[in-house]
Amino acid sequence: MGQRFAIASDTREWLLTKFARGKANYWFTFVADFSAAMFFLVWEIVSRGIRPAWAGVAFFAGIMAWGLTEYIFHRWVYHQPDGIFGEGHNIHHTEAQELIAMPWFMTTLTMFALWAFCARILNIPYFSSILSGWLAGFVWYSIVHHSHHHWILRNGWIRRLKAYHRVHHQFPGYNFGVTIRYWDVVFGTVYRKPGQAVQGLSGIRQTAKVAHPETAQEAVLADA
Ligand SMILES: [Zn+2]
Ligand SMILES: [Zn+2]
Ligand SMILES: [Zn+2]
Repeated sequence: MGQRFAIASDTREWLLTKFARGKANYWFTFVADFSAAMFFLVWEIVSRGIRPAWAGVAFFAGIMAWGLTEYIFHRWVYHQPDGIFGEGHNIHHTEAQELIAMPWFMTTLTMFALWAFCARILNIPYFSSILSGWLAGFVWYSIVHHSHHHWILRNGWIRRLKAYHRVHHQFPGYNFGVTIRYWDVVFGTVYRKPGQAVQGLSGIRQTAKVAHPETAQEAVLADA
């Protein structure tokens, strides 16, 4: 029993300190997840014969569902003090440029297990297409998050998200959204400079009225 635990914790240690911090794992994650997402979509169209247009709608719903998942995972799973997710994300917060990702096969295995059970055994219609969109959302999140720490892009929307994420690295209790800010507004975790009024649900409309929200975020950084 004690021996088994020691082996398990050695493996865990190796996964965390070596495998998850390897370049190969980092880049292969994109390939594996994108391929799996495409497979789930094509599979439902080809072997279940659903109309591509409806598969597209389900795919889009999956992407939207990803946005909320991103928030929930980042806030309540990645920011837990312990556990493989929390420890991994903690490394990211201190070494933001390091190429660290969950071991790729963990995601892929989880996705295929979920797909096999829900789409093939339970035969839930559109599940495979929704899962495809959701996983594509995860890939998109991984690309956007990578760009936040490694690329300089001119696109205004990306630059605002980047400034927004930089604030999260300084104030980890705020700005959990990486590809979308909507859920921070809903849950009230948008970073405000001390003294700034706290906005609730109606904040979406008010924020939209601010001409240059990126300037506001940069001002926050200048202050800090
Ligand atoms: Zn992050
Ligand atoms: Zn980050
Ligand atoms: Zn974080």
